[in-house]
Amino acid sequence: MARYTDPVCRLCRREGTKLYLKGERCYTDKCAIDRRGYAPGAHGQSQGRRRSSEYGMQMREKQKARRMYGVLEGQFRAYYKEAARRKGITGENLLQMLETRLDNVVYRLGYANSRPEARQLVKHGHFMVNGRRVDIPSYAMRIGDTVSINEKDMSSPKFKELLESVESKTVVGWLERDVEKHTGKVLRVPSRDEIDAPVTEQLIIEFYSR
Ligand code: SF4
Repeated sequence: MARYTDPVCRLCRREGTKLYLKGERCYTDKCAIDRRGYAPGAHGQSQGRRRSSEYGMQMREKQKARRMYGVLEGQFRAYYKEAARRKGITGENLLQMLETRLDNVVYRLGYANSRPEARQLVKHGHFMVNGRRVDIPSYAMRIGDTVSINEKDMSSPKFKELLESVESKTVVGWLERDVEKHTGKVLRVPSRDEIDAPVTEQLIIEFYSR
């Protein structure tokens, strides 16, 4: 299945919530959700938000999480299967696996303005994990792993711009950032209340358990 390449604001409008896919723009009054908070398409405005069936709500919740983290359907299902196999609460396991992806860790550390940007930077080989170049956005970070910016990229205009604003970005408690060294470290796997994701994971579990 191909990766989604249409305007990403349509995804937020489809889900009826901000998915923060465009970085700084998402926090301004240019955000499409704030300007046109109805579903995209010719009938989006006239239909308003229709009541969904139980199945529809479960499906939409799954789509929302999938789009927020930028994961394709097959991979998302694989995450669910692994989450169900692990000990603990399946929904929490699922969100923990999504949060500890390398691209999400880069985003949470403030080294990218959005998850799509983090994904692209990782794919282009700009980040190292424990000193080794890793260009797989889904790479699963473990406790104690460190992420750093590839030395040779540090002086590029893109990273200069990102690093200038990094200090103003708050870091989540389960990660540690060293702004001097431009590194970050996973301190622990986040608990559910440390995961700032507007997702009802139980609906996703119900969707896949049908
Ligand atoms: Fe979504 Fe950001 Fe576009 Fe707003 S600006 S609709 S939050 S991607």
